[in-house]
Formats: sequence, structure tokens, C-alpha cells
Amino acid sequence: MGRVVVVGVALAAAAAACAFASVVVGRRVRSRRKWRRVLGVLAELEEGCATPVGRLKQVVDAMAVEMHAGLASEGGSKLKMLLTFVDRLPNGSEKGTYYALDLGGTNFRVLRVQLGGQRSSIMEQHVEKQPIPQHLMTSTSENLFDFIASSLKEFVEKEGDGSQMLLTRRRELGFTFSFPVKQTSFSSGILIKWTKAFYIEDMVGREVKEYLEQAMSRKGLNMGVAVLVNDTVGTLALGHYHDADTVAAVIIGTGTNACYWERTDAIIKCQGLLTTTGGMVINMEWGNFWSSHLPRTSYDMELDADSPNPNDQGFEKMISGMYLGEIVRRVLLRMSQESDIFGALPSKLSMPFILRTPMIAAMHEDDSPELTEVARILKDALEISDVPLKVRKLVVKLCDVVTCRAARLAAAGIVGILKKIGRDGSGGITGGRTRSDVKIRRSVVAIEGGLYTSYTMFREYLHEALSEILGEDIARHVILKVTDDGSGIGAALLAASYSSNSVDSVQLL
Ligand code: ADP
Ligand code: MG
Repeated sequence: MGRVVVVGVALAAAAAACAFASVVVGRRVRSRRKWRRVLGVLAELEEGCATPVGRLKQVVDAMAVEMHAGLASEGGSKLKMLLTFVDRLPNGSEKGTYYALDLGGTNFRVLRVQLGGQRSSIMEQHVEKQPIPQHLMTSTSENLFDFIASSLKEFVEKEGDGSQMLLTRRRELGFTFSFPVKQTSFSSGILIKWTKAFYIEDMVGREVKEYLEQAMSRKGLNMGVAVLVNDTVGTLALGHYHDADTVAAVIIGTGTNACYWERTDAIIKCQGLLTTTGGMVINMEWGNFWSSHLPRTSYDMELDADSPNPNDQGFEKMISGMYLGEIVRRVLLRMSQESDIFGALPSKLSMPFILRTPMIAAMHEDDSPELTEVARILKDALEISDVPLKVRKLVVKLCDVVTCRAARLAAAGIVGILKKIGRDGSGGITGGRTRSDVKIRRSVVAIEGGLYTSYTMFREYLHEALSEILGEDIARHVILKVTDDGSGIGAALLAASYSSNSVDSVQLL
């Protein structure tokens, strides 16, 4: 009897152990299966975002072709290829004190430059930067411009010559306004649409400079808008001031855009356009570029569909600082829905735009062995704690995939511009010359924007792709030059070159 009991207890214990083991094994199998699903999401993302050099070259060609189409007729391409009426760029001979306002992204800048009349001799420059209060981005035009004019007034008064200025000589101001504008001259133009986080309905279709000039006069500032440009044109102006080989400018910050110097005879949509220099700066509005060769994923499509401007700014939504963090957030959300990598679904992960691009950069560039920065950001931004190391590594990988695609596409865009103006070493899109016949000229591209200047991995991927697309020999002749605060300082330089000769040198026959 005793033996039977002992055997019975032993059997029951063995059965319990078996059951326990099978629960553990079952859990492990399930967790392995979920991890495999996560890796599947990653693999799918990597495939969707792949930018082998062959694909980048297709994007280069598409960019050059769309540039032609946008110059051929109004509405001929998603690239607006807007005339800027800027037909000469600062060359160093400018003299005097000029102001500029730079509005168009996260920050707003007020600047003053003193020019000595010799190239590279900006005698003094002073820049003040402040964030635009979020509520003003979608408030009324009066609220936004009163805020700007007040900041300008404070700046002018602090600079010492305020008292005279309010009463006496009218000062010339360069206004950098980085939204699509249909220019009617170098100092005036009509807002086509808002982009990035701005939306003030009453301004669409209206003369932009009037809003600023009226606000300045409400504040008692005796200033006039000498030039109205966007940030790319300002950047090109400063780039050209320092280096006459500067042919294009690219901004990669909150948004992205580019402009370049074009021959007037290539601007077919504007027949009879004559300028004294035979050229004009074209504002591409390349954020709106689109091509079927762009590597688009379901995350991009969903981001676009949920945005206030669906089907618009497609290139920008893959490249610029406003969106990279949001793409990564969408992938992380999908992963945590498919598995339990973060335990129960973290509620913050469902909030659009909660993961900002500088956070992506900080996680991507975390070189600590335990990825402590990744852990900190996941906790602080998304309230997710105790994330295992292998999941933290996965997060870094996601940042890498999304940033790498963005940087490589930006590089393809730049080569597209060089190709359009025959500076990519291929002899242009119509040329039949071979590479060896072509004399390669030094081409400088002025570049600005927080994504490029502050995100080292982004910058390195972009440079790497330029060399891959162009080949080392040609890439050596393409120089990307950062122009600090170029968008604003360049506008002040343009104000200098245009206010001394306010007669419009552009003629439309
Ligand atoms: P804006 O484009 O607003 O005029 P900036 O050129 O200074 O201003 O760019 C700011 C943008 O650059 C931010 O919105 C952000 O997306 C991006 N950015 C800024 N700092 C970093 C960083 N350290 N890493 C990655 N992106 C950054
Ligand atoms: Mg800017």
C-alpha cells in the first residue's frame, strides 16, 4: 500500500513537471514565433526601403526628366520649378547694413549683416533664433506677423540704431519665406500653399510681403521688403558670395527643397524671358517630387493618407526631419502589435509625431555597449521601460534603415540637378558624349538644415551615395558646402544687391 502511494506521488510529480516544462517550452516557442514575426516586419521594411545604386540612378534620371517637364509648361510636372526673378547672385561687392527675417520651419531668425564691399568680408553678423510658438502656425496671419514684427523691433532696438531707424531712413530687409510662392518679381509673390506644420487659410493666394510690411508699420518700424526669397535661394546666395562655383542649394531640415541656377533659354514655359545675366535661380520645390522609382512602403502610404496634405510633398515625406521619426514610430507600432516586444501595447506609441527625428539620431548614434541612450529615449519619449538589449538593437536598426533611405534619396536628388545642368560628368541628358570627353567642372552645392548638419550618420550616408552614383572621380569635383544660417544671411545679401538697384532687370517680352 505504502509503495503504491509513493509511486502515485512520484507519477503525479513527474506529470506536473512535464506539464510545467511544456508550458515553458510552449511559451518559448510562442515567443520565438513572435520574435520571428518581428524580424519578418524588419526584413520587409529593409526590402521596401532598399536603395541599390541602380535604383538611385533611376531616381536621378527621373529628377532630371521632371525638371525639364516642370520648365516646359506650367503644371507639366509635380516639380513646380518656380521662377524667383533672382537673376544675379551676390558677388562680394555689396556694402552697408542689411536685415533679414527667416521664417519657414521650426525656428524663426532675425539677422543683421554689415558688409564691407569685399568678397568674404561680412564685417559683422548677428543672428537671433527663436522657436515659433506652435499655436501661431495655425492662428491668424495678423497674430503670426505681429509676433514676427515685434521680435524684429526688439532686435533692431537692441542693436543700438533703433531710435534713429524708427524715425529716419527706411531700411531694406531680405525676407526668407520658405513655402511655395509664385513670384511676380524678386520682392513680391503669392502664397501657393502652406507646407510643414503651417496653415493659415486667409493667406493662401495672397501677396506675402504685404502681411509683413503691414505688421512692421503697425509696430512703427520703417522697413521695407527688398527681396522675398525662400531658404534655398538665400542659401545659394550666401554660397555664391563665398564661392562663385556654387550652382545649387539644398535644404534638409524640417522640410526639404532645392534651387539652382538655370539658363533662361531652358525656361521654356516663360517664352521671351530676358535677364541681364542670361540666367535665373529656379526654386524647384523638390519636396513635391514624385517618381514610381522611389522606394515606397506601406508606412509611407499610411503616413501620407493620415497627413493634412495627402498626395503632396511625397519626396519630403521620405526625406525630411519632420517625418523620419514618425516613420520609425509607425514601424515600431506595427512590431508591437504583431508581438509583445514592448509588453502590452504602449499607449504613447500610438501618438503621431511623438518620436522626433533628433531622438532617432540620438538612438542611431548611441555607441554605448548597453545602448543606454536608446533605453533612456524609449522611456522618456514613449514611456517604455525595461526593454531588452536585443529589442534596443532592433530599434537602432530601424533608425538606420529609415535614415539611410532618406539620405541616399537626397543624394540622388542632388545628382539629378547636376545631371540637368550637365555637371554630373555624363554630358547631360541629351548629350551623347562619353565620360572621357567631358571636362569636369568643379560644382559646389550649398547645403543647410538641421538634418544634414546635426545628424552625422545621415550626412555620411548621403556622401557615400553621391560617390556611388557619380563614381569617385566625378564625385571629387562635387563639393557640398554648409552655409551656416545661409538662408537668412543670403537674403540680407540679396537685399543688398537688389536695393541698390531696385530697377527690375528681368523683362518679359
Ligand atoms: P528649419 O528646417 O526648421 O528651418 P533647421 O534647418 O535648423 O530648421 O532644421 C531643424 C530640423 O532638423 C528639425 O526639425 C529636425 O527635424 C532636424 N534636426 C535638428 N537637429 C537634429 C539632430 N540632432 N538630428 C537629426 N535631426 C535634427
Ligand atoms: Mg530653415
